[in-house]
Amino acid sequence: MRQNLHTHSTFCDGKNPPEEMVLKAIEKGFDILGFSGHGYVKIDTAAMSVEGTREYIQTIQMLKEKYKEKIDIYLGLEEDALNRLIVKEPFSFIIGSVHFLTHEGVSLPIDYNRGIMEFMVDAWYEGNFINLAKDYYQDVRQMANWDEVDIIGHLDLITKFNEDESFIRFDDPLYVKEACDTIDAFAGKKILEVNTGAISRNYRKTPYPYRNLLQYMHEKGVQICLNSDCHNAEYLDCYFPESLEMIKACGYKTMMKKTPEGFTETDIDCFW
Ligand SMILES: [Zn+2]
Ligand SMILES: [Zn+2]
Repeated sequence: MRQNLHTHSTFCDGKNPPEEMVLKAIEKGFDILGFSGHGYVKIDTAAMSVEGTREYIQTIQMLKEKYKEKIDIYLGLEEDALNRLIVKEPFSFIIGSVHFLTHEGVSLPIDYNRGIMEFMVDAWYEGNFINLAKDYYQDVRQMANWDEVDIIGHLDLITKFNEDESFIRFDDPLYVKEACDTIDAFAGKKILEVNTGAISRNYRKTPYPYRNLLQYMHEKGVQICLNSDCHNAEYLDCYFPESLEMIKACGYKTMMKKTPEGFTETDIDCFW
């Protein structure tokens, strides 16, 4: 059983039109493909426009019908915390993500490049990454009570440019506490994703969240799914076998599978 629920296309900042993603998913043996275009955010040029979102919905619904004998397609959305949806319909699932930090009315992306991250740490937090992490995780945590959100996107995205630990040590106790408090807030409420998106783009060598956080998630009984946050059809299954090994090594025996009714807990050995 092969599934990916975090997929971008040319409707936002992906490289391929949705139909190319579908055909590649079928070719790669996927059973379930969820589209998760970036929901409209005024300041985000990578997100879908309001008009584009309407077209996106129609296109994915059309593809769902066209390829229903070959693959289960789901219409989803990656909602940014800056622009929460009021109504979930017509989306079948929502990924809730924080991509921006806001300081004195200015919002900047945390995942765009290293320079912007350095600027925020220095200019907004006087060089103290922990204080940035506190604000970030506080923003992430609020989504625990957002009913429309099913999956929390890339939990520790603020470490995108931290492969060399130049911003923070992954085991820094103050940092780990912020992340673990956030995991506690989601336990029993939301699915967290293991997200391989930064690997295909050469920012990271392992998925989000970092291994120590994944282990903590397992201890707390947090349910997960494995997603590639795919922006390029070639990488639909990027690092999936390796990630599955890591997930199992952290103790997980099940992952969540999308169904027309919602999500069901599924034996991990059914995947891949
Ligand atoms: Zn995202
Ligand atoms: Zn994404």
